[in-house]
Amino acid sequence: MLAAAALALAGALFTGCAENVDSFIEYSLSDELYVDGQRISSYEYAELAADVGDLIAETEALFDAEAEGSDVFRINAAAAGEAVTVDARTYALLSLCKQLYAETDGAFTPALYDLSELWGFTPAYEGRYSDPRPQPSAEAVAEALTHSDFSGVTLGAGNTVTKADGETKIDLGGVAKGYMTDLVSALIEERYAGHTVEYSAEVMSNLILAGGKHDSGSVRGYNIGITDPRAATTGTAQGLYLTSVRDAAISTSSDAYRFYVYEGNIYSHIIDPHTGAPSQNGVISVTVCVPLSAEYAGARADAYSTAGFCMPLTDALAFYARLAEEYGVTAVVITQDFCYYTVGSGTVLNRKEYADYIGSPLTVENVYTFAEISSASDTVARCEQEEAYIAYIAGLH
Ligand code: ADP
Ligand code: MG
Repeated sequence: MLAAAALALAGALFTGCAENVDSFIEYSLSDELYVDGQRISSYEYAELAADVGDLIAETEALFDAEAEGSDVFRINAAAAGEAVTVDARTYALLSLCKQLYAETDGAFTPALYDLSELWGFTPAYEGRYSDPRPQPSAEAVAEALTHSDFSGVTLGAGNTVTKADGETKIDLGGVAKGYMTDLVSALIEERYAGHTVEYSAEVMSNLILAGGKHDSGSVRGYNIGITDPRAATTGTAQGLYLTSVRDAAISTSSDAYRFYVYEGNIYSHIIDPHTGAPSQNGVISVTVCVPLSAEYAGARADAYSTAGFCMPLTDALAFYARLAEEYGVTAVVITQDFCYYTVGSGTVLNRKEYADYIGSPLTVENVYTFAEISSASDTVARCEQEEAYIAYIAGLH
């Protein structure tokens, strides 16, 4: 039922960590947690991990659109003009969403619940996401779009949320998990205020890495493997790598999670608010790394990685270049012609380069080809391997 993580701490998967099993949200907190350079005791870790678990469960309950009484449920059920009082954490996230909405020119918008439902990507479709299905009618999509305007959602005093259109429904799925990593981080930082804390935590494809990785006395950056979005046919687990990462939040969005193939096209769970349909910009995976110096780095990484699917490719690359300047963001964009683009100053290695970097004796092949940003075009042709992947997926269902 849970998505495979789209990121991995390469060669250093959490050896010991707290993980939940009951909740829908999969998270982990590495037990390699250092305070002022000293690893904390297992007792202290267990206590902290339990609090992190409670925090995840609590926030999941606030943001779950399907759970009666949750903040999001109540906002969605509210009539036009009705003020709904929400938890301060929901309010803070919605305030941040306003900023993200503006920053992405509306490409990132949480007001898309109706469209997600229309295309069959809400939790009610769990277990059926990959079933091939015809498109919803153009009328139904146009109708849902008229109710999907996030600018009609206003945030008022006393943590209140009011909708101009009673039909508008929000869905925080594109940002909530990254935001949860920020909350986990705030909890840990508060507990050890005045000390230097190093830790790593993950909430479903959203990683937060505070400090570096302790390795037999030395501390170095983490190496992060980016899950190959075409692993089903390429057979490789990691398509590319980000190396020497520390003090950063990292998120990957891909079209290989919650998607189906119908008449030779991939329809995945990221909806382009310009069309009301699953994004079709030729992008198959985006990984965004945001330094922790940016406020809400986790939520930003999550939202930014989603947004790159809802802009023409050249606009997405220009958008990441702006984020690189403003926050020091690094972005890795993989396209359906099996090329990849990198933006920002982080180190991105292809499979062969990574094997050399870690001195691996194994022979590996590259799956994706590095492409210069100047060569990017908004029309991205599918390559042969992409056609083979689509045919393979179609054959499974
Ligand atoms: P994942 O859930 O795989 O981590 P993302 O972070 O990319 O993926 O978020 C995708 C989810 O965000 C969708 O399942 C949906 O809930 C929501 N969503 C879809 N399209 C958009 C969009 N254009 N802007 C914001 N959220 C979106
Ligand atoms: Mg996201």
